[in-house]
Amino acid sequence: MEHDGTALRSGSGAALGFARALSEDITAFVLGENLEAMAGEAAKLAPVLVADHPALAAPVADRWAHVIAEVARAQNAELIVATSTTWAKDIVGRAAGLLGGAMASDVIGHEMVDGELHLRRPMFAGAVNATIVLEGSPKIITVRPSAYDAPTAATTPFTIEAVATDAFDVEKLPNATQFESLDRKTGARPDVTEARIVVSGGRAFKNSEDFEQHVGGLADALGAATGSSRALVDAGITPNSLQVGQTGKIVAPELYLALGISGAVQHLAGMKNSRVIAAINQDPDAPIFEFADYGLVGDVYEEVPRLIAELNSSQ
Ligand SMILES: Cc1cc2nc3c(=O)[nH]c(=O)nc-3n(C[C@H](O)[C@H](O)[C@H](O)COP(=O)(O)OP(=O)(O)OC[C@H]3O[C@@H](n4cnc5c(N)ncnc54)[C@H](O)[C@@H]3O)c2cc1C
Repeated sequence: MEHDGTALRSGSGAALGFARALSEDITAFVLGENLEAMAGEAAKLAPVLVADHPALAAPVADRWAHVIAEVARAQNAELIVATSTTWAKDIVGRAAGLLGGAMASDVIGHEMVDGELHLRRPMFAGAVNATIVLEGSPKIITVRPSAYDAPTAATTPFTIEAVATDAFDVEKLPNATQFESLDRKTGARPDVTEARIVVSGGRAFKNSEDFEQHVGGLADALGAATGSSRALVDAGITPNSLQVGQTGKIVAPELYLALGISGAVQHLAGMKNSRVIAAINQDPDAPIFEFADYGLVGDVYEEVPRLIAELNSSQ
């Protein structure tokens, strides 16, 4: 279960949801320091195992991967699941290497075929969806946050157990990487990779002020994160951290609003697994409309202020 040091990350329930779809015998594993609140949250969803230690305070990949691998071995875990995030890419991939198992990342669906687990995952920047079978044990899988729902919270919390003190040897924790600092984003908007709703803007917006007023304004009216196409990042209108796409962030929110974005394949690679896609574009032939569940042909400079006013008046 991934957390930010104070609360579980919203997408981490997807990993448990996937695990629960395969087995009743699941454990939520939380590691870090001062985990009481996060363990309590996780215990609403599944029995919890915690590795709470000052040496694990920062999510340094070589340490966390080492502990995940040790605990997975001690538990005889057949399946290790995490939600597919920037952190998981670093940490869980390493744990898979240590465990010598078979790994699939970015899973968006599964089915059992004659008792065999078939996993669906995008490949080649989302150009194809491959169905794969993992050979070997344990299996290590990361799932896209929007692909699975968290299990329903139980009325009576599950148990919380600390890992046995000898499950990992603090003295033997890898020491090659030291944690320096984490620059947290200031401002009230959620991170684009974690938000339930993402409002993204493209080249239709002529400057940073217009972007902030329209894309930022709509995001605030919806409690959403802002995202951007690369065209705006390259033009210096939006920061790199907002870029969605093949060379930016991969997002899969419940709702993705594409404002003045054409729908280039490299942008689609980062958002096409969103649950619902809605687009506003003045070109009725824009490729984004082929992928959008809802489309509005119009000028973002007219339609977006109208939407913001509508949303604000209904709140
Ligand atoms: C190797 C590589 C990697 C890349 N990685 C990424 C990536 O990670 N993310 C990414 O986004 N791109 C990426 N790109 C760039 C990508 O190919 C496109 O150039 C880019 O996505 C286009 O951004 P856009 O849709 O904002 O701009 P455009 O393609 O120029 O589209 C602008 C759209 O806005 C519409 N429009 C204009 N004015 C208005 C208005 N007033 N009202 C309504 N609609 C309007 C137009 O009809 C048009 O459809 C990559 C390219 C390469 C080669």
